[in-house]
Amino acid sequence: MTEQTSLRSSRASNSRKSPRPAASRTSATAAKSGFGKKTIALVYDFDGTLSPRPMQEYTFLPKIGEDPKAFWRECNTVAREQEADPLITYMHLMYKKAKARGVRIDRADLVALGRDVELFPGVEAWFSEIAKYISIRAESHGVALRHYLISSGLVEIIEGTRIRPHFHNVFASEYWFDAYDLPYPKRVISDTGKTQYLFRINKGIENLGQSINEHMPEGERPIPFGNMIYFGDGDTDVPSMAVMRKNGGHAIAVHPPGKSRAKCVDLFRAGRCDFFAPADYTRGSELFRRTTLLIDRILANIRLEEEAWRLRRSVERKGTD
Ligand SMILES: [Mg+2]
Repeated sequence: MTEQTSLRSSRASNSRKSPRPAASRTSATAAKSGFGKKTIALVYDFDGTLSPRPMQEYTFLPKIGEDPKAFWRECNTVAREQEADPLITYMHLMYKKAKARGVRIDRADLVALGRDVELFPGVEAWFSEIAKYISIRAESHGVALRHYLISSGLVEIIEGTRIRPHFHNVFASEYWFDAYDLPYPKRVISDTGKTQYLFRINKGIENLGQSINEHMPEGERPIPFGNMIYFGDGDTDVPSMAVMRKNGGHAIAVHPPGKSRAKCVDLFRAGRCDFFAPADYTRGSELFRRTTLLIDRILANIRLEEEAWRLRRSVERKGTD
């Protein structure tokens, strides 16, 4: 399989309904036929990383006539006063307010609202540009590329965005629409909760019905942390960046182009990220250049590991002869 084919087939596997347990299958097949750890995973936060503002501000809040600043202020106050989880609080207040204003927003409406979410420059072309870069630079057959999203925002809104088809899988907060009078949180992804999904990618256990806690030796994990880069924009990404870096993975912090980079500098100084750059995803930008530098390193490491794997196999087969 050529790199091109492999990259294409990896992208073609996008489907929210059936997040394929491809990684585990790949690993099982690879164990028999070749070195299996050749999948590179780029993992993104959404709000502030791919999109300038929280996704609810483009969509849900205008629809119910709510001022974003006032809304988030109220969420924080309620969460503090009630000692409630801030994410559950925002998910609850959104629908409580919609109901109070007589606005009905069903799942399909939320998905449709996703079309209005703004993206940073270059985001839409980024996925194919990175794929192109890897297909030229891989120097090894069968390298695959996957993009993942891990967000505290809403699955439904992300589903409606133009870039959804580029993601192998999306892990985000989600509602149950038929549970109660008001939609009820089905899954809430907190800052620390995000790290669970990094391990799911690492272990190839993307079916959320399956437990992630069972021990899996490093050697059996289909996507080593060293093959992963996490993209985030702030304090809410600290647990994920810390998990990445402690496990040999990589992290890049971004800030809005032309605006303060103070938060990124904090993260960089604290060793949370390898690099930071303005959130300009255009080919040739600082972000592109720094990301591809890390990709070069990952590709070199894949070649090195593959060579060592071949040598080990030959030693096992032929012994000292
Ligand atoms: Mg963010």
